Amino acid sequence: MKESTASNKTGVAPPNLAWRDYALLALKGGPRSNSQYTGAARLRSCTNPVGIRSSHAVAACKDLLETELEGIRAAGTWKTERVITSKQAVEIRVKGQSSNILNFCSNNYLGLSSHPEVVQAGKDALDQYGAGLSSVRFICGTQDIHVELEHKIAKFHGRDDAILYASCFDANAGLFEILLTPEDAVLSDELNHASIIDGIRLCKARKFRYKHKNLEDLESKLQESQNCRQRLIVTDGVFSMDGNVAPLREICDLADKYDAMVFIDECHATGFFGATGRGTEEHFGLATGRVDIINSTLGKALGGAAGGYTTGPQELISLLRQRARPYLFSNSVPPPVVACASKVFDLLFGSAGYAEKVQANTNRFRSQMTDAGFTIAGENHPICPVMLGDARLASDFADEMLERGIYVIGFSYPVVPKGKARIRVQISASHSFDEIDRTVEAFKTVGKKLGVIN
Ligand code: PLP
Repeated sequence: MKESTASNKTGVAPPNLAWRDYALLALKGGPRSNSQYTGAARLRSCTNPVGIRSSHAVAACKDLLETELEGIRAAGTWKTERVITSKQAVEIRVKGQSSNILNFCSNNYLGLSSHPEVVQAGKDALDQYGAGLSSVRFICGTQDIHVELEHKIAKFHGRDDAILYASCFDANAGLFEILLTPEDAVLSDELNHASIIDGIRLCKARKFRYKHKNLEDLESKLQESQNCRQRLIVTDGVFSMDGNVAPLREICDLADKYDAMVFIDECHATGFFGATGRGTEEHFGLATGRVDIINSTLGKALGGAAGGYTTGPQELISLLRQRARPYLFSNSVPPPVVACASKVFDLLFGSAGYAEKVQANTNRFRSQMTDAGFTIAGENHPICPVMLGDARLASDFADEMLERGIYVIGFSYPVVPKGKARIRVQISASHSFDEIDRTVEAFKTVGKKLGVIN
Protein backbone atom coordinates (compact mmCIF):
# COMPACT_ATOMS: atom_id res chain seq x y z
CA MET A 1 0.00 0.00 0.00
CA LYS A 2 1.33 3.44 -0.95
CA GLU A 3 1.98 5.95 1.76
CA SER A 4 0.91 9.54 1.48
CA THR A 5 2.93 11.83 -0.75
CA ALA A 6 2.01 14.86 1.32
CA SER A 7 4.83 16.85 2.88
CA ASN A 8 5.39 16.71 6.61
CA LYS A 9 7.00 19.18 8.99
CA THR A 10 10.58 18.29 8.29
CA GLY A 11 10.77 17.43 4.63
CA VAL A 12 9.14 17.58 1.24
CA ALA A 13 8.44 14.56 -0.89
CA PRO A 14 9.14 14.87 -4.58
CA PRO A 15 5.95 15.22 -6.59
CA ASN A 16 4.18 12.00 -7.51
CA LEU A 17 6.53 9.90 -5.46
CA ALA A 18 5.61 8.02 -2.30
CA TRP A 19 7.89 8.73 0.67
CA ARG A 20 9.02 5.14 0.93
CA ASP A 21 9.75 4.95 -2.79
CA TYR A 22 11.68 8.18 -2.57
CA ALA A 23 13.71 6.93 0.34
CA LEU A 24 14.44 3.66 -1.49
CA LEU A 25 15.39 5.59 -4.60
CA ALA A 26 17.70 7.76 -2.57
CA LEU A 27 19.30 4.72 -0.94
CA LYS A 28 19.92 3.28 -4.40
CA GLY A 29 21.58 6.57 -5.35
CA GLY A 30 18.61 7.47 -7.57
CA PRO A 31 17.77 11.09 -6.83
CA ARG A 32 21.36 12.25 -7.09
CA SER A 33 20.94 14.49 -10.14
CA ASN A 34 17.49 15.44 -8.99
CA SER A 35 16.59 17.01 -12.30
CA GLN A 36 13.04 15.69 -12.10
CA TYR A 37 12.40 17.57 -8.84
CA THR A 38 12.10 21.26 -8.27
CA GLY A 39 12.51 23.86 -5.54
CA ALA A 40 12.48 22.71 -1.99
CA ALA A 41 12.56 19.07 -3.01
CA ARG A 42 15.98 19.59 -4.52
CA LEU A 43 17.37 21.73 -1.74
CA ARG A 44 16.20 20.10 1.44
CA SER A 45 16.82 16.79 2.99
CA CYS A 46 13.73 14.67 3.36
CA THR A 47 12.28 12.70 6.19
CA ASN A 48 9.52 10.21 5.57
CA PRO A 49 6.78 9.62 8.09
CA VAL A 50 8.72 6.75 9.69
CA GLY A 51 11.87 8.79 9.98
CA ILE A 52 14.08 7.53 7.12
CA ARG A 53 16.10 10.58 6.20
CA SER A 54 17.59 10.96 2.77
CA SER A 55 19.43 13.85 1.22
CA HIS A 56 21.83 14.92 -1.45
CA ALA A 57 24.55 14.77 1.19
CA VAL A 58 23.78 11.09 1.74
CA ALA A 59 23.71 10.41 -1.99
CA ALA A 60 27.06 12.15 -2.45
CA CYS A 61 28.51 10.25 0.52
CA LYS A 62 27.28 6.97 -0.94
CA ASP A 63 29.07 7.81 -4.18
CA LEU A 64 32.30 8.37 -2.28
CA LEU A 65 31.88 5.15 -0.33
CA GLU A 66 31.15 3.16 -3.48
CA THR A 67 34.33 4.54 -5.08
CA GLU A 68 36.27 3.46 -2.01
CA LEU A 69 34.69 0.00 -2.08
CA GLU A 70 35.44 -0.32 -5.78
CA GLY A 71 39.08 0.52 -5.05
CA ILE A 72 39.30 -2.31 -2.50
CA ARG A 73 37.76 -4.77 -4.97
CA ALA A 74 40.06 -3.61 -7.77
CA ALA A 75 43.12 -4.00 -5.52
CA GLY A 76 42.11 -7.61 -4.84
CA THR A 77 42.10 -6.96 -1.09
CA TRP A 78 38.38 -7.45 -0.49
CA LYS A 79 37.83 -9.53 2.64
CA THR A 80 34.96 -11.99 2.56
CA GLU A 81 33.78 -13.73 5.69
CA ARG A 82 33.13 -17.44 5.70
CA VAL A 83 30.14 -18.27 7.85
CA ILE A 84 30.64 -20.86 10.60
CA THR A 85 27.51 -22.66 11.73
CA SER A 86 28.99 -24.51 14.72
CA LYS A 87 30.96 -23.70 17.87
CA GLN A 88 34.55 -22.55 17.59
CA ALA A 89 36.60 -25.75 17.75
CA VAL A 90 39.11 -27.89 15.90
CA GLU A 91 36.29 -29.26 13.75
CA ILE A 92 33.80 -26.69 12.58
CA ARG A 93 30.93 -26.53 10.15
CA VAL A 94 31.20 -23.86 7.48
CA LYS A 95 28.23 -22.70 5.42
CA GLY A 96 28.41 -24.08 1.89
CA GLN A 97 30.60 -27.05 2.88
CA SER A 98 28.96 -30.45 3.16
CA SER A 99 31.32 -31.95 5.72
CA ASN A 100 33.19 -30.80 8.83
CA ILE A 101 36.26 -28.62 8.33
CA LEU A 102 39.53 -28.76 10.27
CA ASN A 103 40.16 -25.32 11.69
CA PHE A 104 43.72 -23.99 11.56
CA CYS A 105 43.10 -20.27 11.63
CA SER A 106 41.60 -19.26 14.94
CA ASN A 107 43.27 -17.70 17.98
CA ASN A 108 41.83 -20.50 20.09
CA TYR A 109 45.40 -21.43 21.07
CA LEU A 110 44.41 -23.51 24.06
CA GLY A 111 41.23 -24.92 22.55
CA LEU A 112 39.27 -23.69 25.56
CA SER A 113 36.52 -21.68 23.89
CA SER A 114 34.29 -24.75 23.75
CA HIS A 115 35.71 -26.55 26.78
CA PRO A 116 32.73 -28.11 28.64
CA GLU A 117 33.70 -26.57 32.01
CA VAL A 118 34.15 -23.15 30.44
CA VAL A 119 30.79 -23.34 28.68
CA GLN A 120 29.10 -24.58 31.87
CA ALA A 121 30.60 -21.70 33.86
CA GLY A 122 29.09 -19.27 31.33
CA LYS A 123 25.66 -20.92 31.60
CA ASP A 124 25.74 -20.90 35.40
CA ALA A 125 26.69 -17.21 35.42
CA LEU A 126 23.85 -16.43 33.06
CA ASP A 127 21.44 -18.06 35.52
CA GLN A 128 22.93 -16.51 38.63
CA TYR A 129 24.01 -13.07 37.43
CA GLY A 130 21.88 -12.42 34.34
CA ALA A 131 22.79 -11.40 30.82
CA GLY A 132 24.39 -8.11 31.67
CA LEU A 133 24.62 -5.14 34.00
CA SER A 134 22.99 -2.39 31.96
CA SER A 135 25.58 -0.16 33.52
CA VAL A 136 29.19 0.88 33.52
CA ARG A 137 31.34 -0.45 36.33
CA PHE A 138 31.39 2.63 38.56
CA ILE A 139 27.62 3.20 38.56
CA CYS A 140 26.13 -0.21 39.26
CA GLY A 141 28.07 -2.53 37.01
CA THR A 142 30.54 -4.25 39.31
CA GLN A 143 29.67 -7.77 40.48
CA ASP A 144 31.77 -9.96 42.71
CA ILE A 145 32.77 -12.03 39.68
CA HIS A 146 34.31 -8.97 37.97
CA VAL A 147 36.46 -8.31 41.02
CA GLU A 148 37.39 -12.00 41.32
CA LEU A 149 38.44 -12.15 37.71
CA GLU A 150 40.62 -9.07 38.11
CA HIS A 151 42.31 -10.72 41.09
CA LYS A 152 42.92 -13.90 39.10
CA ILE A 153 44.43 -11.94 36.20
CA ALA A 154 46.79 -10.07 38.53
CA LYS A 155 47.74 -13.32 40.29
CA PHE A 156 48.36 -15.09 36.96
CA HIS A 157 50.74 -12.36 35.85
CA GLY A 158 52.24 -11.79 39.30
CA ARG A 159 51.22 -8.11 39.30
CA ASP A 160 49.64 -5.80 41.88
CA ASP A 161 46.22 -5.49 40.28
CA ALA A 162 44.27 -5.62 37.01
CA ILE A 163 41.43 -3.72 35.36
CA LEU A 164 38.94 -5.30 32.96
CA TYR A 165 37.74 -3.77 29.70
CA ALA A 166 35.27 -4.93 27.07
CA SER A 167 38.24 -5.69 24.79
CA CYS A 168 42.00 -5.35 24.58
CA PHE A 169 41.36 -2.78 21.89
CA ASP A 170 39.74 -0.73 24.66
CA ALA A 171 42.59 -1.47 27.07
CA ASN A 172 45.03 -0.13 24.49
CA ALA A 173 42.79 2.85 23.77
CA GLY A 174 42.51 3.67 27.47
CA LEU A 175 46.04 3.38 28.77
CA PHE A 176 48.38 5.83 27.09
CA GLU A 177 46.45 9.06 27.44
CA ILE A 178 46.10 8.44 31.17
CA LEU A 179 49.72 7.57 31.78
CA LEU A 180 51.51 10.01 29.47
CA THR A 181 51.36 13.79 29.20
CA PRO A 182 53.08 16.21 26.79
CA GLU A 183 56.06 16.12 29.14
CA ASP A 184 56.52 12.39 28.43
CA ALA A 185 57.62 10.27 25.47
CA VAL A 186 56.30 7.05 23.98
CA LEU A 187 58.58 4.85 21.87
CA SER A 188 56.64 2.40 19.79
CA ASP A 189 57.65 -0.46 17.45
CA GLU A 190 56.52 0.41 13.91
CA LEU A 191 54.66 -2.90 13.54
CA ASN A 192 52.64 -2.66 16.73
CA HIS A 193 48.97 -3.63 16.59
CA ALA A 194 46.47 -1.12 15.24
CA SER A 195 44.86 -0.69 18.66
CA ILE A 196 48.20 0.38 20.15
CA ILE A 197 48.68 2.85 17.33
CA ASP A 198 45.20 4.28 17.94
CA GLY A 199 45.75 4.42 21.70
CA ILE A 200 49.01 6.29 21.24
CA ARG A 201 47.30 8.72 18.86
CA LEU A 202 44.97 9.65 21.72
CA CYS A 203 47.78 10.65 24.07
CA LYS A 204 49.68 13.90 24.00
CA ALA A 205 53.14 12.52 24.71
CA ARG A 206 56.01 13.02 22.26
CA LYS A 207 55.87 10.12 19.81
CA PHE A 208 58.82 8.12 18.56
CA ARG A 209 58.39 5.16 16.20
CA TYR A 210 61.34 2.79 16.12
CA LYS A 211 62.10 0.30 13.35
CA HIS A 212 60.63 -3.13 13.89
CA LYS A 213 62.57 -4.95 16.64
CA ASN A 214 65.53 -2.69 15.94
CA LEU A 215 67.43 -2.10 19.19
CA GLU A 216 69.85 0.42 17.70
CA ASP A 217 67.00 2.56 16.50
CA LEU A 218 65.23 2.19 19.84
CA GLU A 219 68.39 3.25 21.67
CA SER A 220 68.84 6.33 19.51
CA LYS A 221 65.22 7.32 20.21
CA LEU A 222 65.75 6.76 23.92
CA GLN A 223 68.71 9.14 23.74
CA GLU A 224 66.65 11.66 21.79
CA SER A 225 63.89 11.58 24.38
CA GLN A 226 66.19 11.69 27.39
CA ASN A 227 64.96 15.10 28.52
CA CYS A 228 61.33 13.94 28.75
CA ARG A 229 59.81 13.34 32.19
CA GLN A 230 58.87 9.69 31.56
CA ARG A 231 59.64 7.36 28.64
CA LEU A 232 57.50 4.33 27.83
CA ILE A 233 58.71 1.66 25.39
CA VAL A 234 55.70 0.00 23.77
CA THR A 235 55.78 -3.29 21.89
CA ASP A 236 53.70 -6.31 21.02
CA GLY A 237 55.18 -9.28 22.89
CA VAL A 238 54.43 -11.41 19.83
CA PHE A 239 53.65 -9.87 16.44
CA SER A 240 50.64 -11.61 15.01
CA MET A 241 51.34 -11.36 11.29
CA ASP A 242 54.84 -12.87 11.44
CA GLY A 243 54.68 -14.93 14.64
CA ASN A 244 57.92 -13.25 15.69
CA VAL A 245 58.80 -12.11 19.17
CA ALA A 246 59.99 -8.78 20.55
CA PRO A 247 63.60 -8.95 21.84
CA LEU A 248 62.30 -8.38 25.33
CA ARG A 249 65.46 -9.01 27.33
CA GLU A 250 67.39 -6.41 25.33
CA ILE A 251 64.47 -3.99 25.41
CA CYS A 252 64.33 -4.25 29.20
CA ASP A 253 68.11 -3.76 29.41
CA LEU A 254 67.79 -0.58 27.35
CA ALA A 255 64.92 0.54 29.53
CA ASP A 256 67.13 0.10 32.60
CA LYS A 257 70.00 1.97 30.95
CA TYR A 258 67.83 4.95 29.99
CA ASP A 259 65.46 4.85 32.93
CA ALA A 260 62.42 4.03 30.81
CA MET A 261 59.37 1.82 31.41
CA VAL A 262 58.27 -1.13 29.27
CA PHE A 263 54.76 -2.00 28.11
CA ILE A 264 53.87 -5.17 26.19
CA ASP A 265 50.70 -6.29 24.46
CA GLU A 266 50.41 -10.00 25.15
CA CYS A 267 47.32 -10.90 23.13
CA HIS A 268 49.25 -13.57 21.22
CA ALA A 269 51.13 -14.87 24.24
CA THR A 270 49.02 -14.95 27.41
CA GLY A 271 48.00 -18.42 28.47
CA PHE A 272 50.19 -20.42 26.11
CA PHE A 273 53.56 -18.81 25.40
CA GLY A 274 56.42 -19.55 27.81
CA ALA A 275 56.75 -22.75 29.85
CA THR A 276 53.56 -22.20 31.86
CA GLY A 277 51.82 -19.77 29.50
CA ARG A 278 52.78 -16.62 31.41
CA GLY A 279 53.83 -14.99 28.16
CA THR A 280 56.84 -13.35 26.56
CA GLU A 281 58.56 -12.47 29.83
CA GLU A 282 58.53 -16.14 30.80
CA HIS A 283 59.50 -17.23 27.28
CA PHE A 284 62.78 -15.32 27.67
CA GLY A 285 63.30 -16.43 31.27
CA LEU A 286 62.95 -12.89 32.60
CA ALA A 287 61.94 -12.28 36.18
CA THR A 288 58.22 -11.71 36.74
CA GLY A 289 57.71 -7.96 36.88
CA ARG A 290 60.64 -7.09 34.61
CA VAL A 291 58.02 -5.62 32.25
CA ASP A 292 56.09 -2.81 33.89
CA ILE A 293 52.69 -2.96 32.21
CA ILE A 294 50.87 -5.73 30.35
CA ASN A 295 47.73 -5.50 28.26
CA SER A 296 46.09 -8.65 26.98
CA THR A 297 42.85 -10.13 25.71
CA LEU A 298 40.35 -12.68 26.96
CA GLY A 299 39.21 -13.08 23.36
CA LYS A 300 41.90 -15.44 22.14
CA ALA A 301 43.50 -18.17 24.30
CA LEU A 302 41.62 -17.26 27.48
CA GLY A 303 38.21 -18.62 26.52
CA GLY A 304 37.84 -16.65 23.32
CA ALA A 305 34.65 -14.79 24.25
CA ALA A 306 35.64 -11.14 24.67
CA GLY A 307 37.30 -8.78 27.07
CA GLY A 308 40.71 -7.30 27.70
CA TYR A 309 42.72 -5.98 30.60
CA THR A 310 45.66 -4.00 31.89
CA THR A 311 47.74 -5.43 34.71
CA GLY A 312 50.60 -3.67 36.48
CA PRO A 313 51.36 -1.33 39.40
CA GLN A 314 48.53 -0.58 41.83
CA GLU A 315 48.70 3.18 41.33
CA LEU A 316 48.31 2.81 37.57
CA ILE A 317 45.34 0.45 37.84
CA SER A 318 43.68 2.72 40.41
CA LEU A 319 44.13 5.76 38.17
CA LEU A 320 42.78 3.89 35.13
CA ARG A 321 39.67 3.03 37.14
CA GLN A 322 39.17 6.75 37.79
CA ARG A 323 40.05 8.07 34.36
CA ALA A 324 40.28 5.56 31.50
CA ARG A 325 37.58 6.52 29.04
CA PRO A 326 36.74 3.07 27.59
CA TYR A 327 36.34 1.85 31.20
CA LEU A 328 34.30 4.78 32.48
CA PHE A 329 32.05 5.20 29.48
CA SER A 330 31.33 1.66 28.32
CA ASN A 331 29.22 -1.16 29.68
CA SER A 332 30.51 -3.80 32.12
CA VAL A 333 31.75 -7.06 30.67
CA PRO A 334 28.73 -9.45 30.62
CA PRO A 335 28.64 -12.01 33.47
CA PRO A 336 28.78 -15.14 31.26
CA VAL A 337 31.86 -13.75 29.55
CA VAL A 338 33.47 -12.99 32.91
CA ALA A 339 32.68 -16.46 34.24
CA CYS A 340 34.06 -18.23 31.15
CA ALA A 341 37.36 -16.35 31.41
CA SER A 342 37.49 -16.94 35.15
CA LYS A 343 37.09 -20.69 34.61
CA VAL A 344 39.92 -20.61 32.06
CA PHE A 345 42.23 -19.09 34.70
CA ASP A 346 41.20 -21.87 37.13
CA LEU A 347 42.17 -24.44 34.50
CA LEU A 348 45.50 -22.69 33.88
CA PHE A 349 46.29 -22.44 37.60
CA GLY A 350 45.63 -26.19 37.76
CA SER A 351 47.92 -27.28 34.89
CA ALA A 352 50.83 -26.21 32.70
CA GLY A 353 49.93 -28.99 30.26
CA TYR A 354 48.12 -26.70 27.83
CA ALA A 355 51.19 -24.61 27.05
CA GLU A 356 53.30 -27.76 26.66
CA LYS A 357 50.79 -29.28 24.24
CA VAL A 358 50.52 -26.25 21.99
CA GLN A 359 54.33 -26.06 21.84
CA ALA A 360 54.67 -29.75 20.95
CA ASN A 361 52.08 -29.30 18.18
CA THR A 362 53.87 -26.20 16.92
CA ASN A 363 57.21 -28.00 16.76
CA ARG A 364 55.64 -30.85 14.83
CA PHE A 365 53.93 -28.63 12.27
CA ARG A 366 56.90 -26.32 11.73
CA SER A 367 59.46 -29.10 11.33
CA GLN A 368 57.34 -31.18 8.93
CA MET A 369 56.49 -28.15 6.80
CA THR A 370 60.11 -27.01 6.65
CA ASP A 371 61.21 -30.54 5.70
CA ALA A 372 58.65 -30.48 2.90
CA GLY A 373 60.25 -27.34 1.47
CA PHE A 374 57.95 -24.59 2.75
CA THR A 375 59.24 -21.38 4.29
CA ILE A 376 57.67 -20.79 7.68
CA ALA A 377 58.23 -17.36 9.18
CA GLY A 378 58.31 -16.52 12.87
CA GLU A 379 60.06 -17.83 15.90
CA ASN A 380 58.70 -21.20 16.91
CA HIS A 381 55.41 -19.62 17.90
CA PRO A 382 52.02 -21.27 17.17
CA ILE A 383 51.45 -18.55 14.57
CA CYS A 384 53.04 -20.24 11.57
CA PRO A 385 53.02 -18.03 8.47
CA VAL A 386 53.54 -20.15 5.36
CA MET A 387 55.25 -17.65 3.07
CA LEU A 388 54.02 -17.60 -0.52
CA GLY A 389 54.75 -14.07 -1.76
CA ASP A 390 51.98 -13.58 -4.30
CA ALA A 391 48.54 -12.44 -3.13
CA ARG A 392 46.57 -14.42 -5.72
CA LEU A 393 48.59 -17.55 -4.94
CA ALA A 394 47.85 -17.18 -1.23
CA SER A 395 44.15 -16.84 -1.87
CA ASP A 396 44.04 -19.78 -4.36
CA PHE A 397 46.07 -21.88 -1.93
CA ALA A 398 43.57 -21.24 0.87
CA ASP A 399 40.66 -22.16 -1.43
CA GLU A 400 42.38 -25.42 -2.42
CA MET A 401 42.96 -26.22 1.25
CA LEU A 402 39.29 -25.64 2.02
CA GLU A 403 38.35 -28.09 -0.74
CA ARG A 404 40.46 -30.60 1.14
CA GLY A 405 38.59 -29.85 4.37
CA ILE A 406 41.16 -27.53 5.95
CA TYR A 407 40.36 -23.98 6.93
CA VAL A 408 43.31 -21.60 6.63
CA ILE A 409 43.38 -17.99 5.50
CA GLY A 410 45.55 -16.15 2.99
CA PHE A 411 46.85 -12.75 4.11
CA SER A 412 47.99 -10.17 1.61
CA TYR A 413 48.54 -6.42 1.29
CA PRO A 414 47.56 -4.17 3.09
CA VAL A 415 47.45 -6.53 6.08
CA VAL A 416 51.04 -7.61 5.30
CA PRO A 417 53.60 -5.84 3.07
CA LYS A 418 53.32 -6.17 -0.73
CA GLY A 419 55.03 -9.31 -2.02
CA LYS A 420 54.82 -10.99 1.39
CA ALA A 421 51.49 -12.75 1.03
CA ARG A 422 51.16 -15.83 3.12
CA ILE A 423 48.86 -18.37 4.70
CA ARG A 424 48.79 -17.87 8.42
CA VAL A 425 48.35 -21.22 10.12
CA GLN A 426 47.57 -21.12 13.82
CA ILE A 427 48.23 -24.14 15.96
CA SER A 428 46.11 -25.04 18.98
CA ALA A 429 46.64 -27.30 21.97
CA SER A 430 43.47 -29.07 20.92
CA HIS A 431 44.83 -30.23 17.55
CA SER A 432 45.84 -33.90 17.59
CA PHE A 433 49.09 -35.03 15.99
CA ASP A 434 46.98 -36.85 13.40
CA GLU A 435 45.18 -33.60 12.47
CA ILE A 436 48.48 -31.79 12.16
CA ASP A 437 49.89 -34.55 9.93
CA ARG A 438 46.79 -34.50 7.71
CA THR A 439 47.13 -30.75 7.34
CA VAL A 440 50.79 -31.00 6.40
CA GLU A 441 49.87 -33.65 3.79
CA ALA A 442 47.23 -31.32 2.33
CA PHE A 443 49.79 -28.49 2.22
CA LYS A 444 52.19 -30.76 0.35
CA THR A 445 49.56 -31.81 -2.20
CA VAL A 446 48.40 -28.24 -2.86
CA GLY A 447 51.98 -26.93 -2.75
CA LYS A 448 52.97 -29.33 -5.53
CA LYS A 449 49.86 -28.59 -7.56
CA LEU A 450 50.47 -24.83 -7.41
CA GLY A 451 54.22 -25.11 -7.93
CA VAL A 452 55.23 -23.86 -4.48
CA ILE A 453 57.28 -26.98 -3.65
CA ASN A 454 58.68 -29.78 -5.80
N1 PLP B 1 46.38 -6.40 20.40
C1 PLP B 1 46.74 -7.37 19.56
C2 PLP B 1 48.19 -7.66 19.33
C3 PLP B 1 45.76 -8.14 18.87
O1 PLP B 1 46.11 -9.11 18.03
C4 PLP B 1 44.40 -7.84 19.11
C5 PLP B 1 43.32 -8.56 18.40
O2 PLP B 1 43.39 -8.88 17.26
C6 PLP B 1 44.08 -6.81 19.99
C7 PLP B 1 45.08 -6.11 20.63
C8 PLP B 1 42.65 -6.47 20.30
O3 PLP B 1 42.12 -7.46 21.13
P1 PLP B 1 40.55 -7.58 21.37
O4 PLP B 1 40.04 -8.52 20.33
O5 PLP B 1 40.40 -8.08 22.76
O6 PLP B 1 40.01 -6.20 21.21
